[in-house]
Amino acid sequence: MNSCPHCESQSEHRRISIEVLRLVYYECRNCKRFFPRPIKNPNVPNLFQQFQEEVESYGFNILVFGPGRSNPLFRKRHEIQEMLIAEGHNARMGEELTATNTPFPSDIQEFFQVNQFDYVILLEGSAGSLTEMIEFGIDYYRDRFLTFFPKAGRRSYPGTGTVVRGKRLGALIVEYTDVFVEKCLMKLIVQDMVKFWQSYQFTVDIKLRFWEQQQRGFRK
Ligand SMILES: [Zn+2]
Repeated sequence: MNSCPHCESQSEHRRISIEVLRLVYYECRNCKRFFPRPIKNPNVPNLFQQFQEEVESYGFNILVFGPGRSNPLFRKRHEIQEMLIAEGHNARMGEELTATNTPFPSDIQEFFQVNQFDYVILLEGSAGSLTEMIEFGIDYYRDRFLTFFPKAGRRSYPGTGTVVRGKRLGALIVEYTDVFVEKCLMKLIVQDMVKFWQSYQFTVDIKLRFWEQQQRGFRK
């Protein structure tokens, strides 16, 4: 058994599997904190080590959507934004970009926002964020969304309706509990998904470069 990176306890850790993203984390039974799956052979040089730096240099424009200041989820949103900025991304909250003195209603403005950004992290937990999930996260822009939906809402109308539809259409919707918010689990998931998007973008760019080289070759 691996030791906990926080308290070094070797006790049996609780395995937490985020099925929809195929991610696995552990909760330390001693200090109750979460940590990612440990690398099996940390002493063996990783084959992909050399790519790591280049992959991590990819910066994205990321929107962090969710409830406003009066909601307890707001603090988590803000933490996620700060974390993404610290990791070199342009992370913004929708409110920062919404103009008040325009003829455009706020939902139309958000449409423009989502369209301009690479990815959106959405913490569902209010009327506004529910609308964002349905309209953008499921119907129009699901390919760029990572949505957190409360597990407690599983039997609700959106839980048995839109969320089911969204999942069938391939939307990334992670069910969260209070623990996800209280501890760092939500941030770990966001971090891992951003890493995935970076490596995906890296691969796409390599393929495009390869294709361009071939095109140049054909024109000779
Ligand atoms: Zn621990």
